[in-house]
Amino acid sequence: MRIDLHTHSSVSDGTDTPAQLLATAAAAGLDVVALTDHDTTAGWGPAELARPAGLTVVPGMELSCRWFPDDQPPISVHLLGYLFDPLHPAFVAERARLREERLSRGERIVTALAAAGYPVEWEEVLQRSGGGVVGRPHIAGALVEAGVVESVDEAFATLLNHRSPYYATKADTDVRDGIALVRAAGGVPVFAHGMARSRGRIVGDGAINAMVDAGLLGLEVDHPDHTAEERDHLRGLAADHGLLTTGSSDYHGTNKRTPIGACTTDPAQYEALLAAGTGSAVFTG
Ligand code: AMP
Ligand code: ZN
Ligand code: FE
Ligand code: FE
Repeated sequence: MRIDLHTHSSVSDGTDTPAQLLATAAAAGLDVVALTDHDTTAGWGPAELARPAGLTVVPGMELSCRWFPDDQPPISVHLLGYLFDPLHPAFVAERARLREERLSRGERIVTALAAAGYPVEWEEVLQRSGGGVVGRPHIAGALVEAGVVESVDEAFATLLNHRSPYYATKADTDVRDGIALVRAAGGVPVFAHGMARSRGRIVGDGAINAMVDAGLLGLEVDHPDHTAEERDHLRGLAADHGLLTTGSSDYHGTNKRTPIGACTTDPAQYEALLAAGTGSAVFTG
């Protein structure tokens, strides 16, 4: 069984529609794929309808969160949630709030870039998002289109990363509240790419302990942005705390170079995840 538990479609900042993503997953020989768009479940319906026979789809999401250290500014963290009830009212409301945050923060970044003379317009970024969840990859796409940079990667390496003067933060969910919401909705919360330093500051083991206390059930261990040492460390933490471990590609279509299935999840860990999720069911058959 080949299982990839973290992918993004054009419903957020990937480039494949949900139907294309599932076709890509099947063609890559995956048996199970989770659709985990940022802060939305809008892809679940299209994915259920478009699912190729023989491919199992795990409904999921990647929630934009923050960890609040005592002595530093908040750290951006991502929380994967699987098999939760998409209609749980408090969770629905929090996702809507995050999407609004993404709009105002995206506009702030674009305004700062435009003020510095870069030829980019908010209207165009909105258009590129196709009415879905806006993220920096859409701004990157507009910068490529305008000829400012050659690629989305170059946009992130220069103008859009967290160290750029044009970067703006958003008021993401306190990760402990995010974990509680996923659990309240019957879902399985898994800390995404928890040691990926290239994305910005990372949290320490103390924060992971606190997340476990808040109800965290898993760690994403095998991820393209983790080194072998980081994977070993996370696997050790998971063993210490009795957490499940996942592996995934974080596929974003052509917005990133990582192919679908680049990292995969152990079938026994997948079974544990299925057993823990009670808010919704996989699309299968
Ligand atoms: P945002 O969610 O708006 O903060 O944008 C960050 C998202 O962009 C993350 O989900 C990244 O995985 C994604 N992303 C897509 N392409 C790239 C890239 N080339 N470099 C870094 N991040 C990228
Ligand atoms: Zn993304
Ligand atoms: Fe992420
Ligand atoms: Fe992701």
